[in-house]
Amino acid sequence: MKRIAVLTSGGDSPGMNAGIRAVVRTALFHKLEVYGVRRGYQGLIDDDLAPIASKTVSRIINRGGTILRTARCMDFYEPEGRAKAAETLKKHAIDGLVVIGGDGSYHGAHFLEKEHGIPCVGMPGTIDNDIGGTDYTIGYNTALNTAMTAIDQLHDTAESHERIFFVEVMGRLSGYIAMMSTIAGGADHVLTPESKSDVDGLIKELQRSRDEGNYNQIVVISEGDDAGNAYEISEYVKKNSDLKGIRVTVLGHIQRGGIPSAFDRILASRLGVHAVEALLEGKSNVMIGVKADQVVTPPLSETWDNPTSFDSSYFHIVDALLRR
Ligand code: ADP
Repeated sequence: MKRIAVLTSGGDSPGMNAGIRAVVRTALFHKLEVYGVRRGYQGLIDDDLAPIASKTVSRIINRGGTILRTARCMDFYEPEGRAKAAETLKKHAIDGLVVIGGDGSYHGAHFLEKEHGIPCVGMPGTIDNDIGGTDYTIGYNTALNTAMTAIDQLHDTAESHERIFFVEVMGRLSGYIAMMSTIAGGADHVLTPESKSDVDGLIKELQRSRDEGNYNQIVVISEGDDAGNAYEISEYVKKNSDLKGIRVTVLGHIQRGGIPSAFDRILASRLGVHAVEALLEGKSNVMIGVKADQVVTPPLSETWDNPTSFDSSYFHIVDALLRR
């Protein structure tokens, strides 16, 4: 192996730059040449890649987003698109590819390896923390801290104006950010995709708490909740209760940006070093993850076959911590 490439694909997450830096520095440490591919798989199809020098990745460890840009690429779903991408890699004599992204990106990498024999290694980059085979994904910790800080700030207004805030956080299929920001931010209730939401039960709880003198309450809702989005749920609550002062805040994309936390920088650095070394050891079609603080290399298929979700006993933690 003489030359490898790295790309970021799918949704961006804070810490991807730390991952790129780790891949580049580790490749150079092992005397490999390293190329950066712009805009994910689209860049492979468009032949949009260039060598990256060590100094290019200086001082990016503290920046959110991805210096390589990222994209969603429809052509890569088709064998013809992947054949073009493989041609680009062969043209530049690239012997291995590191893909930083989510399980969608790993499906792409899996096909690229199967159809064209190009060794591919994945690094988990998503704020949702829902990739099988790893306890943590790059960006989740930062996004969780962003959501927690927002909840802290909303508490001030909720308390001063005696309001009930419905706060929508990211996570279409995963309630990690919702559940953990509820606990860390000291919010009162949480609705996540992991369990069927009972909005009538929520109304009873909000009323019970209000009747006990708690006029300020915070309900965290995961964007993928089965009962609807925060606006829909708040409208239902308004129509079906006498609760007053209801407000909605949707955190949206601010959760995807920002300065990566120390945790995410260290995670991305660690996974980046192991990703390059896995390619050098001849591994392919695997992701580099962490389980119980040990680096692991599950097959890419495990990342979509067994998506992680938090332990449902966390609902009990939220219940036990409620104001009574
Ligand atoms: P993520 O990697 O964050 O899960 P996406 O699901 O949007 O994000 O996937 C990112 C890109 O990976 C897609 O735009 C596409 O180019 C590629 N991809 C996703 N799923 C597949 C698939 N089943 N087959 C081939 N390529 C795929």
